[in-house]
Amino acid sequence: MFKSLLNLFFPKTCSGCSSYLTANETIICTTCRHDIPLTNHYLNQENEAFKKFYGRVAVRHVSCFVYFHKKGIVQEMIHNLKYRGHEEVGSMLGNWYAADLKSVPEVTSATCIIPVPLHKRKLRERGYNQVATFGKALSTQLSLPYNDKVLIRKVYSKTQSKKNLLGRTEGIQSTFDVNFTSDDHNKHFLLIDDVITTGATLEACSKALLKIPGASISIVCMAMTES
Ligand SMILES: [Zn+2]
Repeated sequence: MFKSLLNLFFPKTCSGCSSYLTANETIICTTCRHDIPLTNHYLNQENEAFKKFYGRVAVRHVSCFVYFHKKGIVQEMIHNLKYRGHEEVGSMLGNWYAADLKSVPEVTSATCIIPVPLHKRKLRERGYNQVATFGKALSTQLSLPYNDKVLIRKVYSKTQSKKNLLGRTEGIQSTFDVNFTSDDHNKHFLLIDDVITTGATLEACSKALLKIPGASISIVCMAMTES
């Protein structure tokens, strides 16, 4: 009752298209839920996201849930998640994608979920890591521990995403490092991120994690850019 009154005065809007949500819609409207461009990567081991890492770093599995198009539903959702504090978008995507990923042995056999980390200064500025709620939803649904301690970002960079877009990847290799004990040996890490563009960040994170003896990597992302 209180909630519906609240909605009357402050109606909730769709994270994808900003239209008002009805009482039985949460986070995104039915139209966006229907129109969201799914990749179906999880059905095909040799998918386009996996191929991005050919010859760069050895990974066991890569899949992205949806396509990220300029000015599309997903761009709006990720923007809400990343810059407007709408962390519930990450939970929704994680819960939704987990239902598909339950059928992927390379995902369910992982030992733990590792988010691409923010630099501690960036974390302070933003207040949260935008992949945390996605990772925690996957963690709950797939019964895999969430570990945001092993992988660390050493370098603060304001222009991170711009650099990646321009493909200037030199220097990024030294951005990440690992903090581990012998308890972290021989693990299959499920690395998670928001959007794959060139894959340079995930490549650098994977290479850092592979410094741990016996490590292997799989990658799951919310989205992949498609031109
Ligand atoms: Zn919508």
